[in-house]
Amino acid sequence: MNVKNVCILGATGSIGLNTLDVIARHSEKFKPYVLTANRNAEEMLALCKQYRPRYAVMAAESAAQDLHQLVQASQLEVEVLGGPGALIDVAALDEVDIVMAAIVGAAGLRPNLAAARAGKKVLLANKESLVMSGELFMKEVRDTQAQLLPIDSEHNAIFQCLPTGYQCGEGIAADIRRILLTASGGPFRNFDAAALKAVTPAQACRHPNWSMGQKISVDSASLMNKGLELIEACWLFDVRPDDIEVHIHPESIIHSMVEYTDGSVLAQMGNPDMRTPIAYGLGWPERLESGVASLNLFELASLNFERPDDQRFPCLELARQAFKAGGTACASLNAANEEAVAAFLKGNIPFTSIPDIIDGVLGGTAVRPVNCVEDVLSADQSARCEANRLISGLTTI
Ligand code: NAD
Ligand code: MG
Repeated sequence: MNVKNVCILGATGSIGLNTLDVIARHSEKFKPYVLTANRNAEEMLALCKQYRPRYAVMAAESAAQDLHQLVQASQLEVEVLGGPGALIDVAALDEVDIVMAAIVGAAGLRPNLAAARAGKKVLLANKESLVMSGELFMKEVRDTQAQLLPIDSEHNAIFQCLPTGYQCGEGIAADIRRILLTASGGPFRNFDAAALKAVTPAQACRHPNWSMGQKISVDSASLMNKGLELIEACWLFDVRPDDIEVHIHPESIIHSMVEYTDGSVLAQMGNPDMRTPIAYGLGWPERLESGVASLNLFELASLNFERPDDQRFPCLELARQAFKAGGTACASLNAANEEAVAAFLKGNIPFTSIPDIIDGVLGGTAVRPVNCVEDVLSADQSARCEANRLISGLTTI
């Protein structure tokens, strides 16, 4: 059997490391051919020593120079590349079969588009790129017949519950009534408005069920993660926000569900461990051993569900509105959220200001049509400027 070359965009992150863990269990099937990271050369050196990729790419040029020296000193046969252009180049290399899109945030947009354009098997973890440019991205996938597989656990669950042979971007069949998108509710599910105002970045990053990067952890705590996922589901499965009902499910065992017209509800279940959707994506259409422990339903005993509270957690509704507004609105929503989350993590604004900033940006920036990636990136820049103007207004009070 041919060994498949894998390019892991964002190899040093939570999804990247879990991907390497699964790949290491199947070295006869997959080779980590390209690893990329942002600026931490030491972390990348450790991965190069362990996994011996053909290429190692640092998004920051200065970090690429550091890595180059470290790699030479260690006498490793790894070619080091640097800069955002290199991320785009490696995602489209002829020798690459599979691209794991696991950069966090808008920085993943161009490399992911390049992977789709090159017709790769694209394993999509980086939901922000799809939120920003859903229409363009899905068009690229359809035109090139790239194989797009969702890695976000909820979307992977939905994909698994759809009829065999379903391809992302096709409309789902008429015999499907709705999608039930589950959410853990995050660490502040039971906090009242006053308590929410006082939460710290460390508390927000301590997710009850999942171990993830900082940005997505804060998004989970604010429910913006579910807002981004609602938009992601609309693009992946060609549905409308009204076809999706969010269910808070604090145990994170059911990863999402699909309801059919006959009343059947299909759910995908499993322990909250990203190696399950990662192994599914890598192996598809085969199943692979992932290292994930068996589900113990006796120990779990009960599964609970509740409705999301839009008063305490307004981000989900803001995302719904942005999708309905169309054009550049979702790119603005995403950019405002990235800036607000970064300001919260630095301790510059309270947690409860995150939705206020996003709401302010959506109200203060025009929605324009999207014809090309430059339209998306220009909306992204304008929204970041407006978000930072609002953030500095808050921090100087
Ligand atoms: P993380 O912060 O742990 O890792 C992010 C990776 O992206 C790192 O390798 C980092 O070096 C790289 N990176 C950051 N900024 C960059 C830039 N400007 N240019 C190039 N590379 C950059 O994040 P994560 O938790 O692994 O999440 C990655 C993506 O997967 C996010 O879009 C997230 O929403 C999505 N996702 C994550 C999980 C999870 O369990 N962690 C689940 C579902 C979806
Ligand atoms: Mg998810």
